[in-house]
Amino acid sequence: MPDESPHELQDLTQRLAFAERLLAGIAQANDSLLNVTDYRKSIQSALSILGKSTRVDRVYLFRCHEDQATQQLLASQKWEWVAEGIAPEIDNPELQSFPLEALFPRWSAELPQGKHIAGLIRDFPASEQEILETQNILSMVVVPIAVRTTFWGFMGFDDCHQGHVWSSSEVDALKTVANSFGGAFARREAETQLQQVNDSLEARIQQRTAELEASAALANSANRAKSDFLANMSHELRTPLNGILGYAQILQRSEELKSQEKAHASVIEQCGQHLLTLINDILDLSKIESQKMSLYPSELDFSSFMQAIIEMFSIQANQKGIIFRYNLSSLLPTGIWIDKKRLMQVLFNLISNAIKFTDRGEVEVRVTGQPSIGKTDQASRQQYYLQFEVHDTGPGISPKDLRQIFTPFEQVGNIEKRSKGTGLGLAISQKIVEMMGGELNVNSVLGQGSCFSFAICCPEVKLESRSALEPSTRKVLAYQGETKSILVVDDRWENRAVLTNMLAPLGFQMFEAESGEQGLEKATATKPDLIITDLVMPIMDGYEFIRLLRQHKSTHQTKIFASSASVFQSDQQKSLDAGGDCFISKPVHLRELLQALQSNLNLEWIYEKKVLRQAQAVDRGALEIHLSSSPPLETLRDLQKLALSGLIKAFRNELDRLDQTSTKYQRFTQKYRTLAASFQLKSIQSSLEQAIAEYLPEVSETEYL
Ligand code: ADP
Repeated sequence: MPDESPHELQDLTQRLAFAERLLAGIAQANDSLLNVTDYRKSIQSALSILGKSTRVDRVYLFRCHEDQATQQLLASQKWEWVAEGIAPEIDNPELQSFPLEALFPRWSAELPQGKHIAGLIRDFPASEQEILETQNILSMVVVPIAVRTTFWGFMGFDDCHQGHVWSSSEVDALKTVANSFGGAFARREAETQLQQVNDSLEARIQQRTAELEASAALANSANRAKSDFLANMSHELRTPLNGILGYAQILQRSEELKSQEKAHASVIEQCGQHLLTLINDILDLSKIESQKMSLYPSELDFSSFMQAIIEMFSIQANQKGIIFRYNLSSLLPTGIWIDKKRLMQVLFNLISNAIKFTDRGEVEVRVTGQPSIGKTDQASRQQYYLQFEVHDTGPGISPKDLRQIFTPFEQVGNIEKRSKGTGLGLAISQKIVEMMGGELNVNSVLGQGSCFSFAICCPEVKLESRSALEPSTRKVLAYQGETKSILVVDDRWENRAVLTNMLAPLGFQMFEAESGEQGLEKATATKPDLIITDLVMPIMDGYEFIRLLRQHKSTHQTKIFASSASVFQSDQQKSLDAGGDCFISKPVHLRELLQALQSNLNLEWIYEKKVLRQAQAVDRGALEIHLSSSPPLETLRDLQKLALSGLIKAFRNELDRLDQTSTKYQRFTQKYRTLAASFQLKSIQSSLEQAIAEYLPEVSETEYL
């Protein structure tokens, strides 16, 4: 080992110490650049660590870029650290976009190629010395920085005191830290780009949201306008229907009309009811489309409800000459919490479709139920799982058609039967079942029949007081006790006339007023037991009228019914909030009105003695209701037409055809064959008239259900 001079030894020791500090500094600087929480702070801190560990006077970063016009390389100082006592240059405008290529051509040629510049300034080219010596720099090192693979700029270290000469390994070490700066800039660039993408995405989302909100608002207002229009139209259409249906009901109760005329009134009522169903269906569809349909659950006497449905449809099936079966499980709850109107609507649609589309065979309604184990609602009521099925032996639906039948206005199969519907029923039923938490399903085999089914869960309710109302099948003639007086307030005379003509024959003393103002006068003058008021009236509307009645000493306790063709539940609630006792919808349904009168005026009805044949049929409560020994009404009418025209041969052919449809008409056909054989046309006509008349009261009474 050669002997070292004390001077060389000192130099070596110093170099070692420098290298140690440099490495530690680089490690710390790297660490600071890698753990970026605050980008600016970490760059600044890395520069300071490097400056202190190398004991230089200035550390700086310059960003290089091309001059657009001359395409020469320019440089701008971006970051700087200076030792104590050294004047900072970061704000020096001359160091921004200074012509690197012109002033330091060597640097501008070498740095972009990854080379470095290092050494004592006195060894630098004269042109560089001239500039650098003015800053008292003795030695320096400048290393390039690349971001990814592109030249970004350079990092420089100025030594103004010691004139440290950088060894190649020290320069290499500095190059690695320059790479770390490059990495930090690349990350920053990526983050900035990401932020920009995020910002622009956010701006686009905001813009899109605003656009969507605007179009939703537009659609909503269009929808609202449509719903309002439909609701108003519905109000307008239901108002004249009140007159038509009201008088049809009144005529059917008349003692003076002959059975034939009552039959005509019944046809008017049926057509009116059909029209009312169509109006309601279209309104429901619009509510569904504008998502305004809501359920209004309440307590329902489920056994009576199902019984009423069975009674109603067994008669319809009976008239059509098909078998109607029902199977209600013994596990069904007696009371449930459900929207009665909507459940009725679904069942009505499914069962009436089954009967409408089935020409021979049978329709069967099955209802099973069981408590959902451990399931209760918020009010701790036991949840029941109810499964409804409607089977028929009708024409069935092809798999292709099955996909369409739940679409509004879609009708499939037999053209003739389509005219008896609108194609809305299943679309509405499906939506209602969904709102109740179930799903409407169909299984069908073409030529064999269909089964529509759905299952829902609803809470069981204990029925405290069962409805004390009389069964619907008896005709109300009058009521017990003192005469009650009723004031009808409505701006339309036909509406007043309907109520007066419905109620006066039952023994009520009727008064009428055509406006709220007149109503107040008459109410004070006549002191009626009940006031029935319209809601939509000019000048003083029904709500205001009710409020004033409630404030007045003589009427503040009088019973008040609000009656309107409005379809909004909110209007009904508003009338009750204003002080009404009950809401009666228009067209007025006599049975609904009688029920309201009974419970509000504590009436005891006097009924007609005769019990209609329908009631007997219902009382049988047999699983199979197959009464039909008399042919369907339509067949009776056809026979009647033939008899009236004297077409005996065609009459006999019709009897033959009837026998072919079923053996159950044999007694009937036998009787008419005998009469036809002896040409007793008068007897045939009067006998057929009687058979037709027997049908009709049932039809009208069932409408009261
Ligand atoms: P509508 O009965 O008023 O025409 P729906 O929406 O209730 O409308 O029914 C849509 C269509 O589905 C009917 O027109 C009919 O083609 C078919 N359909 C419904 N129920 C049955 C059924 N039980 N048997 C055969 N076809 C049916």
